[in-house]
Amino acid sequence: MKKLALLVVLFTFQQTYSQTHSHSGAQPMTYPDIDGYKTLKTDLHQHTVFSDGNVWPTIRVQEALRENLDAISLTEHLEYQPHEADIPHPNRNRSYDLALAEAKEHDLLIIHGSEITRSAPVGHNNAIFIQDANLLNVDKAEKAFSEAKKQNAFVFWNHPAWYAQSPKGTPVLSNFQEKRIKNGELHGIEVINSIDYSEEALTLALEHNLTIMGTSDIHGLIDWDYTEKGNHRPITLVFAKEKNMESIQEALFAGRTVAVYNDLMVGKAEFLKPLLQNSIEIVKSEYRPKSQVLEVQLKNVTSSDLLFENQMEYTFYDSSPVFEIASGETKQLLIKTLDTKTEIVLKLKALGCFTAPRQQPTIDWKVTID
Ligand SMILES: [Zn+2]
Ligand SMILES: [Zn+2]
Repeated sequence: MKKLALLVVLFTFQQTYSQTHSHSGAQPMTYPDIDGYKTLKTDLHQHTVFSDGNVWPTIRVQEALRENLDAISLTEHLEYQPHEADIPHPNRNRSYDLALAEAKEHDLLIIHGSEITRSAPVGHNNAIFIQDANLLNVDKAEKAFSEAKKQNAFVFWNHPAWYAQSPKGTPVLSNFQEKRIKNGELHGIEVINSIDYSEEALTLALEHNLTIMGTSDIHGLIDWDYTEKGNHRPITLVFAKEKNMESIQEALFAGRTVAVYNDLMVGKAEFLKPLLQNSIEIVKSEYRPKSQVLEVQLKNVTSSDLLFENQMEYTFYDSSPVFEIASGETKQLLIKTLDTKTEIVLKLKALGCFTAPRQQPTIDWKVTID
């Protein structure tokens, strides 16, 4: 009887635990949806001990849950296995399998991936949404790419500006990449890799219609490299019809992304502009008594601090024309509209956001005055 009671208690505990436990951390990330799409937070370039990373795959899952990510991929180097003597793993799908098991009870999608690793000019490339990593582990890079295509993988060029492979720190698009793009075997490019941002990579993305990516390429701990320094990891926001594998894959092939690292956002105008539009909520708009000084309160609902510059004909009463709204904070603007209006168009340039190199978008918000 006692035994049975203990069993019941254990069973109940297990059930409650699996239904309620979460790994949510102190700084979960949040970004608003845009019209027609869910905004999914993804980090699609990460390493574990199954290549040259320092942690077990389960830790990557728990880190992602702490930051409220929607999808991750563990992209182990196929060809670089420094822990091989301690952790021999002829099956290159093992890292994915372990992450998948860990994520089972959670709302986190694990995308099967691998990093195809060569010296320049091939460089490093992630193939994600693969079926079997073992089949990509072949001698010739061309073969690895054609196998990835066979598996319907989405492939992106990693850290193309990495100075270890490109000493000037700028990406060099070689015949190899040109051919892969032409063959439909290369679909995206990292413009943000760990703490690095390459404007030249953005130019290549726009010129060759490659999907704009931002990733952490984490090898150690997210907490040590980012969180405890007051940063979030770099991510790719994917604008997907639904939160599922097929929708993310479709969105990546269609190029619906914005790369984000803290206050830096990089994306095609058609996605970055609506994202910014929804990133600011107007929570108050009211004239100061007996005046034409309009008080507008703007709330930044994202996890990025946003820097703006006034683009209106009206000037401000008490603020610099350049101002920041910190993540989650509300900023009060006093706008001198000269006449009493019933509505105005608030026009701000987002100085930390780029739709092309050195090109920052200006966003209009229609403000109805209470
Ligand atoms: Zn790499
Ligand atoms: Zn990597």
